[in-house]
Amino acid sequence: MSTPLEVIFKNYTAELNKAASDDNIQLALFRAVKSYRDNTRSALERFPHTVQLAEEVLEIKKESIKRMDELVAQARESIEANNGKTYFAKTRDDALKLASDIIGTGKIVVKGKSILGEELEVREHLIEKGNEVWESDLGEFILQLRHDRPMHIVSPSIHVPREQVAKVFTEFFGRPIEPDIAKEVAAVKEFLRNKYFTADFGMSGANVVAADTGAIVIIENEGNVRICTGVPPVHVALVGIEKVVPTFQEAMKVAEVTWRYANYTVPGYINIISGPSKTGDIEKVTTYGAHGPGEFHVIFVDNGRTKMAQEDLFRQGLYCLRCGGCMYECPVFQQVAGYFGYRYLGGIGAIWTAFVAGGLENAAPLVYTCLRCGRCVERCPVGIDVPSMIIELRRKIVAVGYSA
Ligand code: SF4
Repeated sequence: MSTPLEVIFKNYTAELNKAASDDNIQLALFRAVKSYRDNTRSALERFPHTVQLAEEVLEIKKESIKRMDELVAQARESIEANNGKTYFAKTRDDALKLASDIIGTGKIVVKGKSILGEELEVREHLIEKGNEVWESDLGEFILQLRHDRPMHIVSPSIHVPREQVAKVFTEFFGRPIEPDIAKEVAAVKEFLRNKYFTADFGMSGANVVAADTGAIVIIENEGNVRICTGVPPVHVALVGIEKVVPTFQEAMKVAEVTWRYANYTVPGYINIISGPSKTGDIEKVTTYGAHGPGEFHVIFVDNGRTKMAQEDLFRQGLYCLRCGGCMYECPVFQQVAGYFGYRYLGGIGAIWTAFVAGGLENAAPLVYTCLRCGRCVERCPVGIDVPSMIIELRRKIVAVGYSA
């Protein structure tokens, strides 16, 4: 009879081996790594101040995580002063309950990409509660139809080539869709347009939040987040408590470093949202619910982050900007993509899995997959020392009596 940990390792190893011999993954990753490196090199050459800015961002994150509780309280006050509503979820269950209490049942929800959403499995939960939920990010939409999980935090469907996309779309839309990327994009655009304008709720994550103004910043390229957060009558944002920084100017610095190391000179859209839409155009009387949403709900989620902040070595894990750069440089990730992961991916994902999404048991295979080569540290804009944390996690795994 196998122990639960043996089952986890066995399944994980089988997936990893399958991924390592999957030609689609190898080809997709080869192209993605090359393009990431080329784009990041030219983005940093064009905006050389980014390297210095990243050092500033590290200091901002250190200070912010030290003051996490205080900054979350300040952000909540600011958002409420802007006529938004805020909530605090200690656990995953609390977060899901809050989301489903706000949304209810029988509703249409359009959703932007959110790693916290993946952590909580919020889409699955809301569907289970009787709602129709659509991922609006193209990569996430593909994964939703494939019942698949993200293989990269910035490019979730990195492992699915156009031929496979065409196959899934042909089946879903019930008409032939050619393996032509422009035509594939157009088919999704047409389908989602109707959903955006009939949706009851728009849902998003956040890249960074400014405590002083309550502004949440969301970086994107497709324009889907802009529509999800601007068109439906209610916007619900899920925010990890590690995302809050003291000021708006600091939030902008974090955002710029994030997108630059995510290989963009500048993203297509930078959304800044601080409350429901409003107008004072008639008699200077402020009225909420103008052209955009009339309600803005922000759920701040802890779910293990405070525990991570309390441990000296692991606190740095909370500095992660989710730029995804480390994954492209990781020699294991380059072979197997996000199969080296659970809800969170790669070496940094092992740390987040242990504390936040999955626990030590699910993190164990990732912890022993990491080669501790340190290439991720070289790439990371905030110099997160994943190899040292991996060693410590191995000690913890042995200390609780697991063995690999
Ligand atoms: S660990 Fe560093 S390189 Fe990796 S996603 Fe986080 S900030 Fe980016």
